[in-house]
Amino acid sequence: MKIYGKKRALEKLSGFRRSGRFPHALLFCGPKGIGKHVMADYAAMLYMCSENGTEPCMHCRGCTLAEQHIHPDVIFPVPAIEEIYRKPSNHKSMVDLMREFIASCYMKPVEGGVRVIVFEKLDELSVLMQNALLKFIEEPLEFNRYVFIAESRTNILQTVLSRVTAVDVDPADETELASALTEFGIGADRAHELYEMFAGNIGASVEYEKNGEDMVCLKSALRACDAIAAGKEFDCLQSFLALKTRDDIFETLGIMTDIFARAAALKSGVSTSGAYKQQTSRIASGHSLAAISRLYDEAVRLCGMSFTNPNVRLFAAECCGALFSAAEKV
Ligand SMILES: [Zn+2]
Repeated sequence: MKIYGKKRALEKLSGFRRSGRFPHALLFCGPKGIGKHVMADYAAMLYMCSENGTEPCMHCRGCTLAEQHIHPDVIFPVPAIEEIYRKPSNHKSMVDLMREFIASCYMKPVEGGVRVIVFEKLDELSVLMQNALLKFIEEPLEFNRYVFIAESRTNILQTVLSRVTAVDVDPADETELASALTEFGIGADRAHELYEMFAGNIGASVEYEKNGEDMVCLKSALRACDAIAAGKEFDCLQSFLALKTRDDIFETLGIMTDIFARAAALKSGVSTSGAYKQQTSRIASGHSLAAISRLYDEAVRLCGMSFTNPNVRLFAAECCGALFSAAEKV
């Protein structure tokens, strides 16, 4: 397993090992694509490694099986529960399925050592499901370990947060991103552009590069922002007209809202994570703070309207017109 960047998270885990107090419940937090799942795999290997070092040895049976997701005692219950829940023959609620899963974890692990349970999307689980989990982690059995994954802490119950050790996963720096991207055949020049766009988010960079054609919303949002910065209303209209559904317009406006918020922060001297760097600085340098605030408000308002307007092309034109008048209004 090769890990790029994530130095703080890796150091934190090694530190726990060195201190002899490795937590029984970890939470990896960070945006989509940042490498939370890589860190969860790494933690599972640490729990399963027979060498007991500050890093997983990467070659023992525990490490190898955990890395390949075929260790019988490393379990990923959330997708399994969702799959059962979606079956037409299923009549149980998600909470009931979660409780059934938890009950199964009171049995000893298959191989007799420890069991690692990786709960993905913790921040998307309902309050009821999180409460069911809470009882489970409050009184941990000696052989169970928990690894949670979440994009943000906002939707996680405080009671759950207080019982896990949170480890933030940071974006890669430019050199780390460039090395990671060579594995995907992406060269240094392109890596630089992707760094400017996604601020060192390796997953987002790879996804954009590989599935760029599918990422019509992101492309439209970036192009529309460039058009607004350059005062080219026709270009802005073209980028909105490339969108075929109201969902796409909604998503595009969401990305633009993010860029306007970053531009406002930049204009006010507040540093941001650096994503969409070019568009953010173009908007910031070409407009007053008041104009950027109007653009932000307008994009939020249009987001709200995107599901009430029946004609996609008319709405696309309306978006473009509204954003341009927000940018130019004195
Ligand atoms: Zn090992």
